[in-house]
Amino acid sequence: ALADIGVTGLAVMGANIARNLARHGHTVALHNRSASRVDELMTKHGSEGNFIPSASITEFVASLKRPRRALIMVQAGAATDAVIEQLADAMEPGDIIIDGGNALYTDTQRREKALRERGLHFVGAGISGGEEGALNGPSIMPGGSAESYEYVGPLLESVAAVVEGAPCCTYIGTDGSGHYVKMVHNGIEYADMQLIGEAYQLMTSAAGLSANEAAEVFAEWNSGVLESYLIEITSEVLGHTDAETGKPLVDVIVDAAGQKGTGRWTVKSALDLGVPVTGIAEAVFARAVSGSRELRAASQGLAGAELATSLTEIFPGTDVESFVADIHSALYASKVVAYAQGFDQLAAGSREYGWDLKLGDLARIWRGGCIIRAQFLGRISDAYAANPQLPSLLLDPYFRDAVESAAASWRRVVTVAAQLGVPAPGFSSALAYYDSVRAKRLPAALIQGLRDYFGAHTYERVDKPGHFHTQWSGDRSEISN
Ligand code: NDP
Repeated sequence: ALADIGVTGLAVMGANIARNLARHGHTVALHNRSASRVDELMTKHGSEGNFIPSASITEFVASLKRPRRALIMVQAGAATDAVIEQLADAMEPGDIIIDGGNALYTDTQRREKALRERGLHFVGAGISGGEEGALNGPSIMPGGSAESYEYVGPLLESVAAVVEGAPCCTYIGTDGSGHYVKMVHNGIEYADMQLIGEAYQLMTSAAGLSANEAAEVFAEWNSGVLESYLIEITSEVLGHTDAETGKPLVDVIVDAAGQKGTGRWTVKSALDLGVPVTGIAEAVFARAVSGSRELRAASQGLAGAELATSLTEIFPGTDVESFVADIHSALYASKVVAYAQGFDQLAAGSREYGWDLKLGDLARIWRGGCIIRAQFLGRISDAYAANPQLPSLLLDPYFRDAVESAAASWRRVVTVAAQLGVPAPGFSSALAYYDSVRAKRLPAALIQGLRDYFGAHTYERVDKPGHFHTQWSGDRSEISN
């Protein structure tokens, strides 16, 4: 018998997806550059379903039903190109190559075009959920031709996470759209984690909670509007004691955050599209600051004599409990801003590349399987269902009300952070964004004046249409361009 689908690249993600496919009754062909991974999977998990191991790419391709479906799960970048080339050489027109790695969407666009010219389908599928998701049900974001989705959609949907009876996998759009959406998902994940980090730091540094107490607060928050996988595991990590020292593990982990690149890609694309994703950008930069060891070491002596020393010095009468409630509000409001910005970027990417992304569907398939899975996403889905043209999530009645009710607490938290000298770039820049979009006037008027002064870049006027220039170096009369 031939295989329904093949998986090449059997490191942790590929092996788990292959097992997930087999457990759902699909016959799965297996291949890996080094044969040892195929053998290992067969030895340890061969009994979980129907697998067809192969020793070479040609053997692998020959073991697939037509049209052939091959899922690549190798390192993103040059390795993916190498494997695509080998597969394409062995395949025939109509066959489908799926890249489930974390590819940069522009690479996916290039690959899709090149393979289309050779008569092959190329599906760039963002897969989120880490190794556990890959095995038990990830969120899958496949982009490619609508025709290719007919062949791969049902297979992918069968292994995706399920929420309220629906799979966390849907057709995203053409070419690089799936990987783009996965990239922005990861960017939002960066923002979400940064905000959680700030909440934790304020709980401990400003409110004086221990890591264990903070763990309990997060556990409690996980039953309210913040209910999410990230809040749940925050509680787990904060509550974990290091076996060697007996201290909270979080206190013995070096405070330098790593990054693999998807956050940076998100911000680069946002810069190109001119979309203000300040939450994601602050998160990427905050990781960069944390990793700047020399700068941080050299800056240890920078002054701080002006700082307040306690919460009550800033807001007399504030107790720990009410301040922790304020942090909850600040976290929630900042999170709404970060998601609103992320969805704005998705809308802008959709317009730029002609993808016709269904924003509500994206929120829906992120409710399960992926790292940012949360109840909250159901609200986003509802918001776009009620108004597909919503200009910003902040304008949806539910989120508008949520942010307005949180605003006073949010401002208190940002004030406390500033006065105590606890960095809260996510909370404060989200608040600045909120105040910017709702401001009647912005200092951009002055910036336009300055640009006109030194570069004759012209400005528009509030009282009549057209473009104007003041002759700054002459008699300062205004001319209309
Ligand atoms: P890795 O990213 O560590 O990649 C290892 C796999 O790539 C191995 O199978 C390896 O083969 C293969 N490989 C590397 N170079 C080549 C090459 N030149 N030719 C052929 N094969 C090559 O594996 P992961 O399982 O962590 O991730 C797989 C993909 O999934 C990546 O694109 C990753 O970004 C993405 N991803 C990972 C997540 C995670 O949580 N880890 C989450 C979501 C997506 P060999 O055994 O021979 O060395």
